[in-house]
Amino acid sequence: MLLLTTQALVGGSFSNALECEGALPANAHRLHRSESNSQPVSLVRVVDGDTILLNIDGVEERVRLIGIDTPESVHPDKSLNSSFGHEATDYVKNLLAQTESTLYLELDVQERDRYGRLLGYLWLDDQMLNETLLIDGYAQILTYPPNTRYVDAFIESSHLAREAGKGFWAADTSAFTGEESSNNDVTASNFSSERTYIANARTGVFHESSCKSVKQIAEHNKVSISSREEAERLGYRGCKNCNP
Ligand SMILES: [Zn+2]
Repeated sequence: MLLLTTQALVGGSFSNALECEGALPANAHRLHRSESNSQPVSLVRVVDGDTILLNIDGVEERVRLIGIDTPESVHPDKSLNSSFGHEATDYVKNLLAQTESTLYLELDVQERDRYGRLLGYLWLDDQMLNETLLIDGYAQILTYPPNTRYVDAFIESSHLAREAGKGFWAADTSAFTGEESSNNDVTASNFSSERTYIANARTGVFHESSCKSVKQIAEHNKVSISSREEAERLGYRGCKNCNP
């Protein structure tokens, strides 16, 4: 279904769809690949929902998808792995196994993370995998400045997926954070065994997701962080009110 939709869009009906925005399907892909920013790559194998092994000019590279986070499935600490993680991995495997699209990799400002992995956006022709995972609710947003090229579109896609209860956002699984249930502070998140914190990229302060200050952070400055260690590594300091 997803692939058919995408092909229809690639087939040229996208501009028509845009003209009558009300008719735009909920899973329409908004982003488009820029020829100059991306290079063709080939798939070696899917590691997990957000990490793919690619062949780039004959070199095998582990690529972490920018801007998103899927539940763990191959973490060395097995207690962090979940059925959601496996589901996300299978989703990506199926998508890449079925596609006849050419794969392209696009990088952002920072090329590699501290593990030496390339950081990128993976395109299936004109459809970005990072965005697709958010649209279908198999990933949540995880932003590390300076790699923020598509953060606005990602936030919107994730928001729509959440409103529609797609994928892991479905009410009966609530695989992600428990932000909706504000009185349920320590949420058993199916997404990972860790809590999610929200940082303000402008002030350098991070908060519990339930902290009042989070509501005052402009969307484009919000950074979702999965652990306190991550926050410290990125140089964020804890809010004095919510004591994250
Ligand atoms: Zn706070």
